[in-house]
Amino acid sequence: MDFRIPLEFEKELARYKEFVSTRLLSKLGDWYAEKRIPRDFFRQLGANGWLGLEADGPEIRETNPLKAALLLEHLGTISPGVGVAVLVPVSLGAQGIVLFGNQEQKQLYLPPACRGETLICLGNTESGAGSDVAAIAATATKVDGGWLLKGIKSFVTNGDISDLALITAVSDPEAERNSRISMFLVDLTSQGITRTKLHKEVWIPSDLTRIKLDNVFVPEANLVGKRGRGLQQVLEIFTNSRVTISALTLGTAEGAFRTGVEHAKKREVFGSKIVDLQAKSFEIADFYSKLEAARLVLWKACWEKEQGADFRMGASIAKYLSVEVARAVGLWAADLFGAASVIFEHPVHKYPLDAWASSLGEGTQDVQKLIIFREFMKQGKGK
Ligand SMILES: Cc1cc2nc3c(=O)[nH]c(=O)nc-3n(C[C@H](O)[C@H](O)[C@H](O)COP(=O)(O)OP(=O)(O)OC[C@H]3O[C@@H](n4cnc5c(N)ncnc54)[C@H](O)[C@@H]3O)c2cc1C
Repeated sequence: MDFRIPLEFEKELARYKEFVSTRLLSKLGDWYAEKRIPRDFFRQLGANGWLGLEADGPEIRETNPLKAALLLEHLGTISPGVGVAVLVPVSLGAQGIVLFGNQEQKQLYLPPACRGETLICLGNTESGAGSDVAAIAATATKVDGGWLLKGIKSFVTNGDISDLALITAVSDPEAERNSRISMFLVDLTSQGITRTKLHKEVWIPSDLTRIKLDNVFVPEANLVGKRGRGLQQVLEIFTNSRVTISALTLGTAEGAFRTGVEHAKKREVFGSKIVDLQAKSFEIADFYSKLEAARLVLWKACWEKEQGADFRMGASIAKYLSVEVARAVGLWAADLFGAASVIFEHPVHKYPLDAWASSLGEGTQDVQKLIIFREFMKQGKGK
């Protein structure tokens, strides 16, 4: 077993860090105030192959999972809100085309997605259906040449800035629960679409948007995958994106940890530095160990994905542990800053809130436990 990061990934990460420090840091304050990320930022990332897709001759392929995780972890340390906006277009959006798209769809949508020119989001959650993905009520009615989509997708990350959305809708209401839903690629400029940006306090400056579809015509060519397989498809997209969101969440935890430790080294209380109080030094040791553990579990999930092995359980364990540590270390770091931590602009303020957001995206902690337990029994590990 070799735990070293491959040299080429180390080099790429160094280039990425340089990009983030020169091209992102100085702009973050404005983006947080405006709660908006300029589209050009995605094109810059795309031009460097940093969005999660890479051109391999005429083919577009997914970035190596470990490399993608290293980049997202770093972005998460600086801004989980920018990180999630960078994650969504490929991990949730283009992923649907990578996994289930036909040749025409791949040729049409993957190159611009890879370049960061086209952004794709994913709308599944509705007011009555979140963890219970199959409970969606949006409908797709068959009409001449395509489908009419009707319904409301309540919480869509990047819904405001995206061009296209993968939308799940009930196409076959009489069918069984696991074959009622289909997946569609919807042009968000279509007639009948209304987008409402929601006011939220997590993952700033990304947008969270409600998308209303009022009899939106979607051509037959935009059915993604098989009719009636939308539930299985969206669940598989979530399995994949649990790997990347774990990396982002680990970055959230790492960012909070480093911010807290730096402060503990400087701040004096009762005549000594916080870091010199043994109670606090033990907390640092505790969190450092938990971060290491979460990182190794994530790397294992990346390895499983790269090998083409089943990574369902690994992805859920990585998500579960990274969220646990990010929540705990986020609050710990905020506590270290005392009153200053409640100020919106303070660098530590975002971490506990963004860890909370991470606990919801791609399934709650309870949902991860459901999956882990199911896989535990299925794989015969409960014997
Ligand atoms: C910032 C943010 C961004 C998001 N982005 C997107 C997006 O881009 N696209 C999208 O489609 N959705 C998105 N979501 C929605 C997200 O996926 C859901 O919020 C999440 O799946 C939980 O669903 P819910 O909110 O309906 O909660 P519910 O499903 O109603 O859950 C409520 C509670 O019940 C618990 N629970 C549920 N089922 C079980 C069970 N079987 N056993 C035990 N406990 C259970 C949950 O853990 C939770 O504590 C986003 C949400 C947030 C907050």
